[in-house]
Amino acid sequence: MPVEVALAQLLALAEAAPIVESESVALADGDGRVLAEDLVASLDLPPWPNSAMDGYALNLADWSGEPLPVSQRIFAGQAPEPLQPGTCARIFTGAPVPQGADCVEMQENAQVQADDRVLFTEALSVGQNIRPQGQETTAGETVLSAGTRLGPIEQGLAASLGAATLKVIRRVRVAVLSTGDELVEPGQPLGPGQIYNSNRVVLCSWLQRMGCEVIDAGILPDDLPETRQRLAELGAVDLILSTGGVSVGEADFLGIALREEGELALWKLAIKPGKPLTFGHFRGVPVIGLPGNPASTLVTFALLARPYLLRRQGVQEVAPLKFQVPAGFVWAKPGNRREYLRGRLDQGRAIIYKNQSSGVLRSAAWAEGLVEVLEGSTLVEGDWVGFIPLSEVLG
Ligand code: AMP
Ligand code: MG
Repeated sequence: MPVEVALAQLLALAEAAPIVESESVALADGDGRVLAEDLVASLDLPPWPNSAMDGYALNLADWSGEPLPVSQRIFAGQAPEPLQPGTCARIFTGAPVPQGADCVEMQENAQVQADDRVLFTEALSVGQNIRPQGQETTAGETVLSAGTRLGPIEQGLAASLGAATLKVIRRVRVAVLSTGDELVEPGQPLGPGQIYNSNRVVLCSWLQRMGCEVIDAGILPDDLPETRQRLAELGAVDLILSTGGVSVGEADFLGIALREEGELALWKLAIKPGKPLTFGHFRGVPVIGLPGNPASTLVTFALLARPYLLRRQGVQEVAPLKFQVPAGFVWAKPGNRREYLRGRLDQGRAIIYKNQSSGVLRSAAWAEGLVEVLEGSTLVEGDWVGFIPLSEVLG
């Protein structure tokens, strides 16, 4: 199954199960959350014309080449008097432009005479150095629409409009499960044949960054009754996200439990790393089963599970930023799956980590992004490849 097809199916499933409950959060707590309603400007921005410079406000009609007396001083935060005809006003950046003034000359172009009058030598024009009322926003305009993911910049925009609280979609509750008898938590001694569980912390931290409520459901042993019971104990969550145990190996009990108590689609994705992916329901709760190899978990979470989670919250733009860069490596053997190589930019060219095994998480720690090599293609240096910065998707 091509990646786009899998993504389209997941997004359709997400749209069929939207999370609509909302809550009000303090502006400062909005980071990573999704707006539940349009943010409509309650005022013009700026609310009044203000000066873009430290300088002098005057009326162009009063400017004859003769120096003008200064009739008032206007600092930011003050309410000015109307400008007296035949004068100028000392004004500072951000201060309201007085009624009757139609331009501001910056102080560098103004010569203060011995008698304190000010001579303007450069050409002036109407509106110069004035930020007009409503240039950013006018009252009643929708500034951010419902479904917008909030970050520091959106929070700032809301703040500039005076919003102290924001209506956001409630946190998505995601249960994270790691499957596999071989897994041991860091801090415990390793027995024979055992490895440390790395996917758990990757997904828990990542989901937290995304603003989800994480239910860390620990390690699930490779055992059918236990799998059934532990899934049943999870209770009311919006998504069960598991890793491992989803290929067609003998120890893939998650798949068996889903078939018995819900439904299961097992997709063989044309993606590398990350071929096997499960989508199903356990007693009505959506389940995404990511492949267990750490690099596979990362790639499939970034490209499939993350967009799904965002779309559940009503986010429309879920595709990560991807740009084209020249390859700084050679790709001689065309593959039948789309590759997402862990790579970096080196003088504008994509280079890749030496070991692209799906078990090697270090490749991703080294990387700055995922380098996309399309199925069936070979590359020589300088050919264009897609580059998805990891910083784009890690939150
Ligand atoms: P599986 O999909 O269960 O067959 O696992 C594929 C590979 O990923 C195996 O080598 C597992 O040991 C490894 N693996 C599975 N889950 C984890 C995990 N949580 N942390 C680290 N490696 C894992
Ligand atoms: Mg396993």
